[in-house]
Amino acid sequence: MKNISFFLLMLCASISFAQDASKTQNVILVTFDGYRWQEVFKGAEKKLISNKKLVKDVDALKKNYWSEDKLASREKITPFLWNTIAKQGSIIGERKCASKMQVTNIHRFSYPGYSEIFSGWGNRKINSNDYPDNPNHTIWDFLQADEKFKNKMVAVATWDAFPRIINTKRNGVPVYVNIKDSAGKCSSGNLIFEGWNEKCPASNGFILTDSLTYHFAKEYISKNHPRFAFIGFDETDHFGHEGQYDSYLHSANQLDGYMQDLWNYIQNDPQYKDNTTLIITCDHGRGHLGMKMWKHHGGLVFSSNKIWLAAIGAGIKNQGVLKNGHFYQKQIAATITKLFGKKFSEEKKIGKPIDAILN
Ligand SMILES: [Zn+2]
Repeated sequence: MKNISFFLLMLCASISFAQDASKTQNVILVTFDGYRWQEVFKGAEKKLISNKKLVKDVDALKKNYWSEDKLASREKITPFLWNTIAKQGSIIGERKCASKMQVTNIHRFSYPGYSEIFSGWGNRKINSNDYPDNPNHTIWDFLQADEKFKNKMVAVATWDAFPRIINTKRNGVPVYVNIKDSAGKCSSGNLIFEGWNEKCPASNGFILTDSLTYHFAKEYISKNHPRFAFIGFDETDHFGHEGQYDSYLHSANQLDGYMQDLWNYIQNDPQYKDNTTLIITCDHGRGHLGMKMWKHHGGLVFSSNKIWLAAIGAGIKNQGVLKNGHFYQKQIAATITKLFGKKFSEEKKIGKPIDAILN
């Protein structure tokens, strides 16, 4: 009898462990490059949205996104964030509530930021967007070494630095940029993308549009059902640098719409429904002083280390905006692996999981 109860106890313990570990089967991580915490939490900035040098049609833009009530303005720009994630998930970075999040790398621009997201620490040697293949061990390497994840991961991005940041040469994870994988082949058998690749106007000479990135990513995800997928958008940063506040807000609004569409898809797909976590964040912040600094970011740009994170789905607490706590970009890697029931690293320099948002 004693043995039987011990056996039952062990059985229950193993079942409850199995349930915990299997809550999150899949994670989709998305980044809005350089989208500021200020617009996320406070909506459009009055000085910027009213400035004719930054906005072609002030009245039209205000109609879309402006309100004296900051909560109404932010909801107009990113309705999915505020009507769905804020009600069913967790959001970090509302500095007014003392919920802070920041990067730890000293550089405050893209390659170092994405490297910190994927590797769990800010390597000061990674000091250029042209940096060669990432020397840091990342969650891509870590998960690829596990049979359960091998060949079940993907990255789709607008910016062509991602094959180096993820170091696809080392780990073999497919990284699609401009709808081509790192070997340069067209990656989808779907005819739609063959044509889009040439017909869609590029937003600048180096990148294609986030619209292509999103539609390709969704197509790939729905066909292949990866367990870990990354979608890297770029236009918010691009229009920020260009000083086009109207396009910057439109991009954020469009990306938010893609997230709504992706979440609808996830919750209607039998393989993803109720076992998938969606995490949205950014690689760095931007400045905020005066009319010019919002365009920039970098080691010398005050406040461009400040970021935000939103998460919804399996394993994520339903608590809305966190009211306090100080969090770091370097914690994202271990948070993702913890959702999968795996410990990323024992190393001291690696950020710990953000337990405050985990169930
Ligand atoms: Zn930038």
